[in-house]
Order: sequence, then structure tokens, then C-alpha cells
Amino acid sequence: MLAITKWRIEQRLLVLHMQRRFKRKESQRKKTNTIRAQEYFDVAYPPVYGPRWPSIRLALLSKQKYVAVINNFANHELTVENFQLDDDELAARAKVEPISRYPEEYQLRALAKDPTLGAAEFDNTSRVILPSEVGTRGTSIMMDYVPATKLKGLENWIEETDIFVQQGDREIGFITEKQEEPINLPSMLKVYAFAKGDISDFPQPKMDHHLKVLDYYALDGASLLPVLALDIQAGEKVLDLCAAPGGKTLIALQTILPGIVVSNDASESRGNRIRETLRQYIPHGISSFERHSVITKSDGCNIREKEAYDKILVDVPCLTDRLSLKEDDNSIFKTTRTKERLSLPELQSNLLASALQAVRPGGTVVYSTCTLSPLQNDGVVYLALSKLWQETTIECTIVDMSYAVRPLSFLYRFGTNLGLRYGQIVLPSLLNNFGPMYVAKIRRLR
Ligand code: SAM
Repeated sequence: MLAITKWRIEQRLLVLHMQRRFKRKESQRKKTNTIRAQEYFDVAYPPVYGPRWPSIRLALLSKQKYVAVINNFANHELTVENFQLDDDELAARAKVEPISRYPEEYQLRALAKDPTLGAAEFDNTSRVILPSEVGTRGTSIMMDYVPATKLKGLENWIEETDIFVQQGDREIGFITEKQEEPINLPSMLKVYAFAKGDISDFPQPKMDHHLKVLDYYALDGASLLPVLALDIQAGEKVLDLCAAPGGKTLIALQTILPGIVVSNDASESRGNRIRETLRQYIPHGISSFERHSVITKSDGCNIREKEAYDKILVDVPCLTDRLSLKEDDNSIFKTTRTKERLSLPELQSNLLASALQAVRPGGTVVYSTCTLSPLQNDGVVYLALSKLWQETTIECTIVDMSYAVRPLSFLYRFGTNLGLRYGQIVLPSLLNNFGPMYVAKIRRLR
């Protein structure tokens, strides 16, 4: 009798176990990549963004906002006129505001010191962040991470929470310098944006039938920031290391400043997208232009030329938060791309380290992502600079742009008091739904 009861209990447990397994499999099958991304962000970001996370999350899931950059290679005077006068486009165009100049008050505000912040933080002299200051739990959660290689084999959702295990046991010094001047808006760059809270769409770009190019380029407003941070000067040699589909290359070219822009991407098909973008905006057969723009295909982690560029943009592949929450196709949260996702910080830091070797002493590298991930932002800057410190004689300073970006607060919601040490971040907000965009500027000393 006892044996039969025991057998029955065992049978029942077995059935329950099977049912549970089946249910788990069912729910796994139903989970889309966008839900996977959402679950991941909901675990990883609240500890970093705190009470700001719900509003950022809502903005990420809402309609993204664009700005329009007038195509200087089309009949741009006509385009600008259209933007202001064309009755057909009615309210939308009438409300569009040019942002090519800062209101003066913003310039003044940028230069004024903020009395709410401690004097030490605004000490004009360069400072060294000591190893002991880097990455201790409680002092700066943004800096607490372990390299992705150490995370392999962990479950999908654990990785970035485990990143908040502190590391930083090596001797390394980072010097920072402050950029006192507001970020410069090149005079040739004509950017238009709808006012805060206005979520109107731009009309479709028009074809200039004579020159066979489109009249403006629409892009997430925050995507301007990495190019502005480069502070391109006339005649400079610029490398856009991860350039496809070519949006930021195009903005750099629209400033009419660079001597040459080399637009590189590792992938052949993505390289073709750069070609296509440029074809849509730059009239064919401008012989002088051919000297100003080159497209290359190579692994950005191994740039052969050393000390060859004045400015390098490193706009890396990342978690693409907004896209990952919206699109299931080919998402970085696809289970088949888990390994690739986990190794992103490694790839990103290799790309950045490689760029710092390719820029000339005195030149500037801008590192940017469109993710809120602390590991892929400040974390990668730290990884790359540590690597260079250990393996080369290269010396760099982090350019603190916190003052310099202030005039742009009328356009962007910058993340403040997040413990960011190296870069600036544009947080998505319903009022101006740009970003996320993280930008760090590094100057090579020698
Ligand atoms: N900067 C582009 C723009 O504004 O249009 C977007 C760049 S996208 C975020 C990242 C790009 O990096 C992808 O096109 C990808 O093919 C490229 N990429 C990935 N690994 C790379 C590598 N090792 N070297 C160079 N490019 C790479």
C-alpha cells in the first residue's frame, strides 16, 4: 500500500514537472526580441537612472523626434525659403525653428558657473582621477563593471546587473581638461527643429530635379552631437570609423569644413549604404568633391595608418536601445546574437583604442553610442584608455564637455548627476524625444 502511494506521488510530481517545463517553453517561444530588450532594460537601467527611468522608458517607446539638416549641395537657399514660406506644408513648416544659432542667453549661461555645484568640481586645472576613485560600489555605479568576456555563459538577463560588481584594481591615471567654450555650430550647418513638445513630422524631402539630390536630411536630433563634438576645423582630415549608413559622415560634409572625410565600415553591404546616402545628397560628378570623400571597408579595430587623422568619430555598434524596443527583426536581443551582444563592450573598446592610435597627437577622438548602457558608455572609455595605458606610450586627456554642451539644453535633455565621469548623455524625453546619445571626447596628447 505504502509503495503504491509513493509511486502515485512520484507520478504526480513527474506530471507537474513536465507541465511546468512545457509552460516555460511556451512562454519562451512567445517572447519577442522587443520584449526581451524591454525586460533587460527594466532590470539594468532603474539602478542607474532611478526615478528618471519611467519617463525615459515612456519616451523610448514613443515617437522619436527628428531634425532637418539642409542639404548644402542642393539649392539650399530655396530649401530654406521653402521651410519658412511654403503654404502647402502649412503649420508644420511654419512652426519649424532654425537652430543654427544659440540664443545669446544660453551662451552666457554656458559660461556662467553653476552655484549649485561644488567649487572643486569646477576647478579649472586638470585633474587626475586616481585608481582608488574608479569604480567603487556606492561612489559611482556608472563605473562599476567587469569586461564582457567574464560574463560569457551567464543567463541573458543577468549580465548588466552583474556589471555593477566593481573592478578597477590597476594603476591608471586619467587626466581631464574642461572645454570652456560652448560647442561650436559650424556656420554652414543649417539645422531646423520643431519646438519643444511639437511632434509634427517633416514633409518628405523634395528632389532638386536639376542637381538630382534631396533638399534636406532628417535625423534624430541627438545624432548631431557627436559631429559637433568633433569641432571640425577647415581642411582637417576626418575619419568616420563606423560610418554606415552614413548619416554622420553626411553631417560632417555639410559643414563644408573637412579637407577629407574617410568613411569606413567593416561590412561591404553597409558600405554600400554609405554610398547610397551620399548619392542621394551629393550631386554626381562634382570633381572637387571626390577629393573630399572616400569610402573604405576595413576592420576598425586594426587601422593600419598611425597618427594619420586630425579627428576621428567612433560611432560604435551598441544595444541601440530605441530600435531594440521597436523592432524585432535582426534585433541585437535575438537569442542567436547573444554572444555578439555580450562581446559588444570588447569590440567597442578595441575600436576606440584603435582610433586613439590612428589620431595624431593633438588630435581628437569622439566616442558615441545610442544606448543608455553604462558599460557601453563610460565603461568602454575606461576599458580603452586602460588598455592604451598598459600597452602603449600614448597619453590622452578626457575633454569634459559638461559646460560646452549647456547651450544645447534648449534642444536636448542632458543626463546630470548620474555619476558619468567621461561623457555626456542625451536622455530621451517626451518634450524633445531625441536620443539616447552618449558622447565622450578624448584628446591625444602624445
Ligand atoms: N555612424 C553611422 C551613422 O551615423 O549613420 C552609424 C554607425 S552604426 C551605429 C555602427 C556601424 O559599425 C555599423 O554600420 C557596423 O557595420 C559598423 N561596424 C561594426 N563592427 C565594425 C568594425 N570592426 N569596424 C568598422 N565598423 C564596424
